Amino acid sequence: MSAKREAKLIGWLRAAERVLAFCGAGVSAESGVPTFRGAGGLWEGHRVEDVATPEAFERDPLLVWRFYAARQKALQEVEPNPAHRVLAAMDAHFPEFLLVSQNVDNLHERAGSERLVKLHGSLMETRCTECERVTPCDPLPEAELDAGRLPHCRCGGLLRPNVVWFGEYLLAEHLRALEAFFERAAPDGKASPPVVLIIGTSGSVSGGYGLTQAARRSGARLVEINPAPSLLSREVDLPLREPAGVLLARIWPEVTREQR
Ligand code: NAD
Ligand code: ZN
Repeated sequence: MSAKREAKLIGWLRAAERVLAFCGAGVSAESGVPTFRGAGGLWEGHRVEDVATPEAFERDPLLVWRFYAARQKALQEVEPNPAHRVLAAMDAHFPEFLLVSQNVDNLHERAGSERLVKLHGSLMETRCTECERVTPCDPLPEAELDAGRLPHCRCGGLLRPNVVWFGEYLLAEHLRALEAFFERAAPDGKASPPVVLIIGTSGSVSGGYGLTQAARRSGARLVEINPAPSLLSREVDLPLREPAGVLLARIWPEVTREQR
């Protein structure tokens, strides 16, 4: 059964000129980065939703920074997995490609992805709460936080992690990039339908941000790669129930093999 579905995906990708991948925490799971739900959703006894909100930062910026400093540090101990690497290879392969990831880790960048929209921001950037300046950063030294010192901008404003917290809006330019992908015609005017890969997301945070509806309107083929069903599963044409790294590493040589 699943071999048949896999062959279908390979055929679609071989024919495709436009591919969009919409990813979530599951893509980094095989690198050892825990998904929120998978880890029990708790950090030092706090619900993740309670340390990742603007209210939490107002109330206790040190606590919130300790949470993010620990995640920054953990990133230094993990590597991109085959799913990140195949997504980077897709970027190089397809004329029209967009990777839209909800992940705030830096594994897509480290694997070489370029046409990348980081919908929820980046763990390795700070943003000033006064002047809004965004700056790449190293992991915040825990000793500084232990001493009660918070990071500040050169303007004097308090710095926060440049991530989209629960209850905050996505950047309009990111949503536009998503829309623009579906508005663009096939490069050569031929009508090969776009392929949308939904990989490793439960859909519980995003509900997909209207992505599946936009994809449908554009005539796209929707594929889900996730070992477990998600809230988006009933909207896809082709569910593939396997870890993303395992599946993508197996199919990619088939997609790119020269045909005679
Ligand atoms: P989620 O934690 O809600 O869901 C993870 C999904 O990944 C689940 O559906 C699970 O079945 C699936 N999954 C687990 N292992 C997989 C694998 N090997 N291959 C494919 N799928 C696999 O994740 P979400 O939907 O991204 O929402 C979580 C929110 O938390 C997002 O806002 C995200 O920004 C954030 N988050 C990010 C990271 C990260 O940057 N790596 C990690 C945890 C959470
Ligand atoms: Zn500033």
